[in-house]
Amino acid sequence: MSETYHLENMSNSDSLQQALKQYFGYESFRAGQREIIDASMAGRDTLAIMPTGGGKSICFQLPALLKTGVTIVVSPLIALMQDQVTALKENGIGATFLNSTLSGRETNQRSQAILNGAIKLVYVAPERLFAEQFLEFLNIIKNKMGIAGFAIDEAHCVSEWGHDFRPEYRQLSRIRQIYPDVPMIGLTATATERVREDISQQLQLQQPYIHVASFNRSNLYYEVVPKQGNEQTYVNLLRQIKRFQGSGIVYCLSRKRVDEIASRLREDGIEAIPYHAGLGAKEREENQTRWIRDDVQVMVATVAFGMGINKPDVRFVIHYDLPKNIEGYYQESGRAGRDGEDSHCTLFLGYQDLETIKYLIAQKVDPHTNEPLEAEQRIAQQQLRQVVDYAEGVACRRTILLRYFGEGFQGDCANCDNCLTPKPMEDWTVETQKFLSCVARTKERFGGGHVIDVLRGSRKEKVLQHGHENLSTYGIGKDHSLDEWRQLSRSLVHQGLLTQTTDGYGILKLNERSWEVMRNQRNVLLPIERDAEPATVKDRDAAKERPVDMDILFERLRLLRKNLADEQEVPPYVIFSNATLNQMAEQQPTDRKEFAKLSGVGAKKLEQYADDFIALILEHHLKYPPAEPSESNSFQVKSESISSKSKLSKASTQRETLAMYENGLDIDEISRDRNLKSATIWTHLVQLVESGYAINCDRLVSPERQTVIYEALEAIGGDSLRNLFDHLREEYTYDEIKIIRAIWQNEKDPL
Ligand code: ADP
Ligand code: ZN
Repeated sequence: MSETYHLENMSNSDSLQQALKQYFGYESFRAGQREIIDASMAGRDTLAIMPTGGGKSICFQLPALLKTGVTIVVSPLIALMQDQVTALKENGIGATFLNSTLSGRETNQRSQAILNGAIKLVYVAPERLFAEQFLEFLNIIKNKMGIAGFAIDEAHCVSEWGHDFRPEYRQLSRIRQIYPDVPMIGLTATATERVREDISQQLQLQQPYIHVASFNRSNLYYEVVPKQGNEQTYVNLLRQIKRFQGSGIVYCLSRKRVDEIASRLREDGIEAIPYHAGLGAKEREENQTRWIRDDVQVMVATVAFGMGINKPDVRFVIHYDLPKNIEGYYQESGRAGRDGEDSHCTLFLGYQDLETIKYLIAQKVDPHTNEPLEAEQRIAQQQLRQVVDYAEGVACRRTILLRYFGEGFQGDCANCDNCLTPKPMEDWTVETQKFLSCVARTKERFGGGHVIDVLRGSRKEKVLQHGHENLSTYGIGKDHSLDEWRQLSRSLVHQGLLTQTTDGYGILKLNERSWEVMRNQRNVLLPIERDAEPATVKDRDAAKERPVDMDILFERLRLLRKNLADEQEVPPYVIFSNATLNQMAEQQPTDRKEFAKLSGVGAKKLEQYADDFIALILEHHLKYPPAEPSESNSFQVKSESISSKSKLSKASTQRETLAMYENGLDIDEISRDRNLKSATIWTHLVQLVESGYAINCDRLVSPERQTVIYEALEAIGGDSLRNLFDHLREEYTYDEIKIIRAIWQNEKDPL
């Protein structure tokens, strides 16, 4: 299939873009893709670092298609391999994988296909790569067709510093020794500097082109919702799921909680299933597949779930319990919105969870000696504090997250709760002064818990032991609850009005700004927790409202996609992404030429699916004629305005079309004159016939063609446009069939 695109003429940018459209259906490259692809095409080693959903795959897939020879893709997870190969095949690209799940016969067949030149991309697991037999096979490939390159997916697995080190990956440097001249590309979503350097070194990349994308995921909305007791928190969860729609994940801390939440959601009519390490391997896999294929909406899971899940249309990730660290939170929440569509990341903040995690951390012991692992415990505590910093912070959530990865962000993202609904602030200067002087009187040697105990007049042993019941600050804070003091304490640290040691002990120390507060030179404001469902989120959603008939069409398109997917036993997103379906519902293409313009429709998918979807859109138009005169159908348009306008003007606009037609203008002329799509003009004429107007159609469909369509109608009836279209061997357009069908129906049962 790559004959049309030879390396020589790929140097110009138009042809790269053409290939992107032809194979993948996309109009333009995302940030970074083009530069990475250019480097690969030039034969350079490359390191591509992009966040989840950044579009890494195309960076090695497109060059693989355009270069001569076979590209070997190393990928750690069998599920991932299968997924990518399925998606490539849907786009008509020769790809296959070799791994331990295949029988000897299957392996032979696939090897044969590779040597026959039918395959451009071969996915292998790293352990297979170094099997003697495979190395020999590689050599044959090299001699027969050439090896275009090696692509190392999830390249962070090579690093011990990463969160997912795989010893098999360590061997990859051997490939370099065997094939020093074959270019290599490493791809990962790892955010830390240390791992990046390690990858470059371990893979022995030679003067690589390195692309580090921003880790800002601008389509994700971040919010934190305080827990309000078990019942209310569950109700808030339910409300969120109902509001978000689409696929989602709910992460919980324990298996027990996973089971509990999944079954409660089911009782409340949400299709939810559980996933955790306590389930059998078979059940886990089944549940995963059902969720990926959109048979169920919500996966309730422990963090065991999600690694290597490629589902691009996850609309929300809710952390029902507190995550253990920021890196984990970024990766887990980042499973939302890979497709670039708006998605929600919600974190429920509960202080009870905080205590649970602290308890778990305190349980970390050496399995052999049973001694507490102090260093590990301290790191875990510090990580937990960073999570709380994020959750309680009043600054832009993105700024806090990205700062963690060393990326500066200017704030004010307009897509997080803190930016959209800043928390109201209350003056807590006097309380702060009490708190700070208690820190001073206890000699800056304790953490927040002890200081609060003293303030609240506790008789705990630790208080008495230090004689702290004799301090002047003892018991002066009884007028506030434990939680309120805790919140103040944490907030003072966030605001830099108090310093906390980062050695894991979290000792509170006064700083310059603390003294300013004590000297009455500075006021302290404390953010007040807001309600669970901020109003602005609703406003934000409302802005995207679209006409009802588009929503109806979208649902029908989705159903069709699901049926096609089930027939082929693939996930629906492999057929078309939600972004493509949205565009389809918005633009409502009624012929192949227009259909081909949709983003996500390449040559193969046009061939395979256009007619099914067009037929559905045409059926839809019978009931909901395309909106007009606004041809842009923008999402911003409010539903009432469009539907009432179209109702009001429907009759008159049809009559205008009729008048022009009867004056001898043809469809194209009317379309141009009225600045409407020709599909709209066709629809007018069909509707006029349906409502009883006798129109002479000879100028629309030649009499000979009319006869053939009549015959088809007599033979198989007029119920299904699609069947008629097929019956007529696709030689007649849907518009032709529709207008003759309308006349035929009128003749059969006159109004
Ligand atoms: P990553 O591996 O970086 O997480 P993927 O390669 O899976 O990301 O791409 C994420 C999504 O973005 C996929 O649905 C993919 O088809 C889509 N995508 C990639 N590149 C483009 C592009 N240039 N235009 C539109 N969509 C794209
Ligand atoms: Zn923000």
